[in-house]
Amino acid sequence: MRAPTTPLRPQPDSLWRAIAAPMSTGAPLARDIDVEVAIIGAGYSGLSAAYALQKRGVECTVLDANPIGWGASGRNGGVVSSKFRLSFPTIASTHGIDVAKRMHRLAHDGVRTVEAFVDEFKLERARFEHTGSLRCAHTERALASICAEADWVRTTLNDTSMSVQSRAEVEHETGSKGFVGGVLSADAGTILPLEYVRGIAAGLNARGVPIYEATPVIDMSREQDGRVLLTAPGGTVRAKQVIVATNAYSNLTEATASYHRELVPFRSAMIATAPLSPELDAQLMVNRRSYTETRRMMKWFRNVDGRMLFGGRDAFGKEGEPTGFDALQRAMVALFPQLKDVPVEFRWSGYVGMTFNALPHVGRSDDATTFCLGYNGAGVAMASLIGQHAAALALGEKPELALLAQDGLRPVPFHALRAPGVRLVAAWYQFLDAVGA
Ligand SMILES: Cc1cc2nc3c(=O)[nH]c(=O)nc-3n(C[C@H](O)[C@H](O)[C@H](O)COP(=O)(O)OP(=O)(O)OC[C@H]3O[C@@H](n4cnc5c(N)ncnc54)[C@H](O)[C@@H]3O)c2cc1C
Repeated sequence: MRAPTTPLRPQPDSLWRAIAAPMSTGAPLARDIDVEVAIIGAGYSGLSAAYALQKRGVECTVLDANPIGWGASGRNGGVVSSKFRLSFPTIASTHGIDVAKRMHRLAHDGVRTVEAFVDEFKLERARFEHTGSLRCAHTERALASICAEADWVRTTLNDTSMSVQSRAEVEHETGSKGFVGGVLSADAGTILPLEYVRGIAAGLNARGVPIYEATPVIDMSREQDGRVLLTAPGGTVRAKQVIVATNAYSNLTEATASYHRELVPFRSAMIATAPLSPELDAQLMVNRRSYTETRRMMKWFRNVDGRMLFGGRDAFGKEGEPTGFDALQRAMVALFPQLKDVPVEFRWSGYVGMTFNALPHVGRSDDATTFCLGYNGAGVAMASLIGQHAAALALGEKPELALLAQDGLRPVPFHALRAPGVRLVAAWYQFLDAVGA
């Protein structure tokens, strides 16, 4: 038996970790095994793939370099949404109405998938609430644009789940005077992300699916019989098929780094205040929905156990660095001056996988390897669904993927320049937001 050499990185010091039930760490892989399908990555994508395989009676195993949910799945804002970064009218104008309908179905299937996991694995601790998501407009022009979209979705796709809110309604709902109106999407909600990912893992474990933590895949090669050989410090896995579900963390080892080149990783940061006074708590986010805004450098917020949770995507620098948190706090106070003297108790960040076409990518990189990644910051529901479709692809099925299907890997051009590129684009977006364009 080989001794694993990789120390387990702790879960980031987030509000989610502070309120989660204690969980013992799983064992690393410490022997050589053979399976039908091996999955790399124990976030929503990888675990959902394992779920779909287990349901079909296909033997599988999940390997993660870190603890379950260590990546974006245990760090995100817990906003469960039924949309893509591209709007449905934009999709229709480029690809036609039929494609827009199929994409719309996939988006809502994502929310149904979260509900199904919560029901099947009895994930009460994940506290999924189907309270809807309110998109708050920062200018009249932005409001007109999201109202037109809601109207289009209602008349063209027969979807009545979106409704317009006036300035006064948004102010009452959020407690902020910073918005001119908004659009409520009823088919959305909130969840505790770390409890959700851990709950799925526990449910899979109970059904006999092994999940090895502290098990980085450091090499991936093909055997003469066509099988894939995955090498980790403590052992190897021989598999007929592999699913790579490493997303924005794919560069943790060279073995999965080629999947990282599909993405432009954007650092996304979150802060959580100390518990609010009962008066403030009753005033802010009264319907306990998730809230997003229309600025290009979007902020989002929600109430968790009487704390304001506030997130944004303009945290530059590397993960673990303090950059970005002060700016996020200033942005929060600009929208909610009531929070000026409320201390921030938790700060953490993670990487979001952005893609060039603003859509997730699912496909096969060769005849034995399937990948799914690039949820563009909206992966709680989508990764829960797409991981299952990746499993179906790996088994040779043809799941409905509409525009998400991708034939082989297509690395982002000039990937090595991504960090300065991201800063440049973000600075331009911040300028446009500042001038209200
Ligand atoms: C701060 C933040 C806020 C967000 N907010 C929201 C939100 O509110 N709503 C929403 O819908 N989405 C949100 N997202 C996006 C969402 O969290 C992701 O889309 C989703 O979690 C992706 O899941 P995943 O399983 O694909 O990847 P991840 O959860 O990142 O999992 C990848 C896993 O792969 C492992 N790994 C990588 N390389 C290797 C290797 N070589 N060997 C073994 N293991 C490896 C990593 O350790 C990691 O655990 C947010 C993301 C961030 C970072």
